[in-house]
Amino acid sequence: MKITYSIIAPIFNEKENLPVLHRRVTEVLNSIGEPWELILVDDGSTDGSTGIIRELAKQDQHIRPVIFARNFGHQVAVTAGLDYSRGDAVVIIDADLQDPPELILEMAKKWKEGNEVVFAVRAEREGESWFKLWTASLFYRIIYRITDVKIPLDTGDFRLMDRKVVNVMNQMRERHRFLRGMSAWVGFKQVGVEYKRAARKAGETKYPFRKMFRLAINAVTGFSYFPLQVATFFGFMSASLAIIAIPVVAVLRLTNTHFFEGQTTTLVAVLFLGGVQLISLGVLGEYIGRLYDEAKGRPLYIVREAPED
Ligand code: UDP
Ligand code: MG
Repeated sequence: MKITYSIIAPIFNEKENLPVLHRRVTEVLNSIGEPWELILVDDGSTDGSTGIIRELAKQDQHIRPVIFARNFGHQVAVTAGLDYSRGDAVVIIDADLQDPPELILEMAKKWKEGNEVVFAVRAEREGESWFKLWTASLFYRIIYRITDVKIPLDTGDFRLMDRKVVNVMNQMRERHRFLRGMSAWVGFKQVGVEYKRAARKAGETKYPFRKMFRLAINAVTGFSYFPLQVATFFGFMSASLAIIAIPVVAVLRLTNTHFFEGQTTTLVAVLFLGGVQLISLGVLGEYIGRLYDEAKGRPLYIVREAPED
């Protein structure tokens, strides 16, 4: 069967949100009146979401469940959704209803006008802590600055992508994924639509600080060498400082000026350089670890149950 719209929702312990998500997506998509599917990717839920997904799939032919063998993380769950999607247009949406399904109507309109990526821009956010708002805003701006791809500011993964874009994305099998960066990287005709990001419908965020931090590191390492260049920069800085300092110290010594006395200077210099070196090693380590992961070539995710068709 030919599908026009594939909606992908990653699910990690969202049992309270699933029925509402299903209802609202169904309403919106039925109002468009073209064939659609809803791909629910169960990312190792432990709260019974898996059972609800199976149940919904039995009642509604539109639902295609992809059930993971364990938790692989949000970005990988969405990737699996992209792999299984068949639609001419693919929409990625959060299952917690922070992304209003009703916006799909507007996205679809922009897509019909010939845009190949329609991303949703968060004009306003509800019900989030100032810490999250502040770190998110800082994050988007740093990424914008230091990466070579111009990833639109204040956009999440909520977006519609044309089949052409999805096909390219599906060829990008990198392990540490940052989908919004990847979808900006491919090019094509991109446009944003603004929306008000609602508060989470039920449950708690599945993105604790640790996961957010990892995502940020993936974004940076995936799209830029900037951290490696910072190490080079500090290297040149301290080397230049040393070159200036050598004659100065020599002259002071020869003229018997007791300017540098005690060991404080030495200690501070050693600590500073030691710190810079360790940080640079750590940065190198991040990139090498990623190289190693890629070299192992393990599958991105393991599926326990794939859609039947
Ligand atoms: N999610 C997932 N796997 C994870 C973490 C999150 O599939 O390991 C899903 C989650 O169920 C939700 C979406 O990713 O549908 C976004 O997560 P969340 O709403 O917790 O993130 P936040 O909006 O707080 O940044
Ligand atoms: Mg959320």
